[in-house]
Amino acid sequence: MGLEDSPRAMSLGDSLPRRELLSRFSRAAAAMALCGASGPPAQADPFPEIAKGEIWDLHGHLGGGRTPEESITRSLKYADRMGIRRVVVSMGMSFSYDPSPEEFRRQNDDVLRAVRQAPDRVFGFVYLNPKHVAESLKELDRCVRDGPMVGVKLWVAVHCNDRRLDPIVRRAAELKAPIFQHTYWRTGENLPGESTPADLADLARRHPNAALICGHTGNDWERGIRAIRATKNVSIDLSGCDPTAGMVEMAVRELGPERVIYGSDFPGRSFASQLAKVYSADLPDAPRRLILAENARRLLRPILAAKGIRI
Ligand SMILES: [Zn+2]
Repeated sequence: MGLEDSPRAMSLGDSLPRRELLSRFSRAAAAMALCGASGPPAQADPFPEIAKGEIWDLHGHLGGGRTPEESITRSLKYADRMGIRRVVVSMGMSFSYDPSPEEFRRQNDDVLRAVRQAPDRVFGFVYLNPKHVAESLKELDRCVRDGPMVGVKLWVAVHCNDRRLDPIVRRAAELKAPIFQHTYWRTGENLPGESTPADLADLARRHPNAALICGHTGNDWERGIRAIRATKNVSIDLSGCDPTAGMVEMAVRELGPERVIYGSDFPGRSFASQLAKVYSADLPDAPRRLILAENARRLLRPILAAKGIRI
């Protein structure tokens, strides 16, 4: 979930990427106009990942429908329009910052229903609460070891450098399940159990073999990127704030393109606004492809392979 405070507004000074985006659209439109009578367009598609439908979205939730099935069907309809082939989802039919074991089991049952609805496109992350270690470990086994889920989602119940996370992270690493940790630096105060990217860096140093994802890049992404730069087992999720000039470029420069992953936080955020961060960034095609698909694929390949799922 986003849990966002006032996002950075796009100022006039940030308008260059948008202008570039518009100019790419107009080049594509001109190419389409050319193709009317005389065959295919002369210019290559400026957004080949959309055209091919090969994008992976690492961060999504249920919601926007009366049932898990209705929610995921609706989100996939919009994903189709934007070339998004695979999505990762966790909880969201209701919101609970500090779920009881009964509550997180119910939310994970919702996700299992969504995965069953489109198993070739929807990958589930199990929602846990480290305040309930034994029950969380049991749930991890139920949904990931013995079920179809492929990762862990942690939200705002406990700061992620809390020692209660250690057995959960160890178990997830054994199962090759990446952990997606919501992180935020708010303009005002964070929620009581809300982690920052610095908390995640602490956890990452204790668990160098775990694959960790820094949700929202901490919202204050300039600090977030720096906070996790030295912990190589942490990747960032681009979701959350509005498109802001320079975010993706800085992430690629400081972390390398392999640690930057596209995620939208749908349905709370639109696919289009979050994809715009990647398309408007001043990047060659190769890192853009890593961010939009290949990094998520590489992160999930080991656990999907262990489950016999070919991607
Ligand atoms: Zn989220």
